[in-house]
Amino acid sequence: MSSTARVMTVYGTRPEAIKVAPVIRALENNPRLESITVVTGQHREMLDQVNEIFGIVPDHDLNVFAHGQGLNALMSKVFERLDPVLEQERPDALIVQGDTSTVAAASIAAFYRQIPVVHVEAGLRSGNIHSPFPEEANRKLTSQVSALHLAPTPTSKQNLLREAIDESTVVVTGNTVIDALLHTVEQGLPISEPRLSELVAGQERLLLVTSHRRENWGGAMEGVGRALRRLALEFPDVTTVLPVHRNPIVREAVLPHLEGLGNVIVTEPLGYGEFTRVMAASTVVLTDSGGVQEEAPSLGKPVLVMRENTERPEAVDAGTVRLIGTGEERIVDEVTRLLTDETAYAEMANAVNPYGDGRAAARSIAAVEHLLVHGERLPDFEG
Ligand code: UDP
Repeated sequence: MSSTARVMTVYGTRPEAIKVAPVIRALENNPRLESITVVTGQHREMLDQVNEIFGIVPDHDLNVFAHGQGLNALMSKVFERLDPVLEQERPDALIVQGDTSTVAAASIAAFYRQIPVVHVEAGLRSGNIHSPFPEEANRKLTSQVSALHLAPTPTSKQNLLREAIDESTVVVTGNTVIDALLHTVEQGLPISEPRLSELVAGQERLLLVTSHRRENWGGAMEGVGRALRRLALEFPDVTTVLPVHRNPIVREAVLPHLEGLGNVIVTEPLGYGEFTRVMAASTVVLTDSGGVQEEAPSLGKPVLVMRENTERPEAVDAGTVRLIGTGEERIVDEVTRLLTDETAYAEMANAVNPYGDGRAAARSIAAVEHLLVHGERLPDFEG
């Protein structure tokens, strides 16, 4: 490699920022690579807040966010605004993470300019192109144009090989979310809301809920709201914490069901430092999030996933994650079981780390160097 190779990272949402932050830090600490960061701003405040925790100052901001914007408007803005940045910066490689519309658009834009694409968290598959929507399609599109596939687990590598991706371009790194989680938990960041802070310090049982999936909008989300109300009334000693996604559709479907309940705390989305502390203090985690499914098992928390399928089978196989769908009755039954049956709880509350060992960013950057200059490749994460 000449003195340094220029590696551009493009990301747009909170979960991407969390998972890509350890990679950017590793890039910045590597004297042979130069890091250029571009945020699309698909999520605004939530993104800035994560950059702050990891001390990342983006070089370019495409500022594509607009209220109520459709996926096509978003995609076309990323194409239009990223292209001049690619022209100006001429990176040797472009890193994207995950499966958002930012990822699909940025990777295709780079491919059209013949810039090698590095896909972090490659190879997750639910097997249903409509669920999660549009993520399953985004991740498959990205795989088609990537030069280097950084698969988090051996299972995700196998998914890629089944799609005839060349094995020499796949490296198993572990998921960078575990690097991010360990880095953040270590910092013990403060919790700004006094009631939450007390809760985390105390002994009370806590049900942490997050729900934002696009395919759950509407009727399913209403059912979640009704289930949470029933659980709050049935278990007055358990506090439900619900950081609600900024999306108004999510808010309007869930919040009316929770009015007047003293043991339900509805908050704005929490900063990553606060969220990880609440997760670590919780009794049960009820979620439809991908990242939370990966983080909570490593904290030993039982996770009930409000989806019909998952692209993250590893913790389901390990017994700490259970898929329960979005039906009101099933949610009530499964949470009730964990809150009332100690044996059932103990069976699920095991700390397992099928997603990583905290060294995924180091493996990822070694693989990028290998791609650009045939540097040394680190042994794969074995799961
Ligand atoms: N998260 C957070 N604050 C919150 C809720 C979640 O920082 O109020 C973090 C969580 O720890 C995980 C990520 O955001 O790392 C998950 O984001 P989300 O559920 O939006 O997306 P997904 O993982 O489903 O793509």
